[in-house]
Amino acid sequence: MAEQKEIVITEVCPRDGFQSLPIIPTGVKVEIINAILACGFKQLEVTSFVHPKAVPQLSDADEVLMKINRPENVILRALIPNLRGLERAIYAQVDKVKVMLSATDSHSINNANSKTFDAMREFAPLVKRAKETNMHIGGSISVAFGCPYEGIVPMERLIEICKRYEQLGITEISLADTTGMANPVSVKRVISNVRDKFPDFRFSLHLHNTRGMAFANAVAGFDEGIRDFDSSIGGFGGCPYAPNASGNISTEDLVHGFEEMGINTNLNIDKIIEVAKDLQKRFPEYSDSFILKAGKISDLHLAPPGQVKLGE
Ligand code: ZN
Repeated sequence: MAEQKEIVITEVCPRDGFQSLPIIPTGVKVEIINAILACGFKQLEVTSFVHPKAVPQLSDADEVLMKINRPENVILRALIPNLRGLERAIYAQVDKVKVMLSATDSHSINNANSKTFDAMREFAPLVKRAKETNMHIGGSISVAFGCPYEGIVPMERLIEICKRYEQLGITEISLADTTGMANPVSVKRVISNVRDKFPDFRFSLHLHNTRGMAFANAVAGFDEGIRDFDSSIGGFGGCPYAPNASGNISTEDLVHGFEEMGINTNLNIDKIIEVAKDLQKRFPEYSDSFILKAGKISDLHLAPPGQVKLGE
């Protein structure tokens, strides 16, 4: 079979982006999410059912879910930190939930107030309840390619986490470069190792562009067989628990780059750029996207009239 030249992008701005912006009124969120859905995404990370005190930016998650358009073939995914969050997600009828976990204990303590494997033990009742209600449940590993407190995460540690996910019955795993510490070589090493050990898992990449390496990392992941990527329109998003971590790779950069390489995203880049421009207008100091600055490669410019070069 020919290599699949197609990827699936999950738009995460309504979760990763909105939680790092000043509080957005519910009506505006609904407007933005509806515009995002019109770009053709098949999967959207729509919110996180966290405690309103922990992330006040997403305290209206339930209401947002009630008010947005829900095209039939779009999978809406939400993050859930606990059973209470899962019950809210079930009530809101999202299609998929995701639990989050940090690869290192120090990031986990900062993020979830417990060590990695302690936090993981709390997932068992969530999985049980999700399966009872036929809710699809996936997991993620934050700081998988490097932790701002502990540095590079040992391969054995990542494999142990995957093993425990497998024991729980979770086999769809998002590997997150939460603070932009990955490089194409480390991405290839991690992906080839975990895919080799867990051939039945579905791994995806969640890349932040903190040090300008996210697109190169995405291509490295693609080369290793990854076909699922997260990105955020306008490059909004960050990690409230990682100092100075900047945003997700912008969706327009990821889509544009892959499409230029002949890899199909099934998304409408022009509509995505429109939404990104609208968001940039609303939150100018938070956007981070090359395509917003430079436009598409295919946007040709009028050639300047002939001129005599200085110095010749
Ligand atoms: Zn993120």
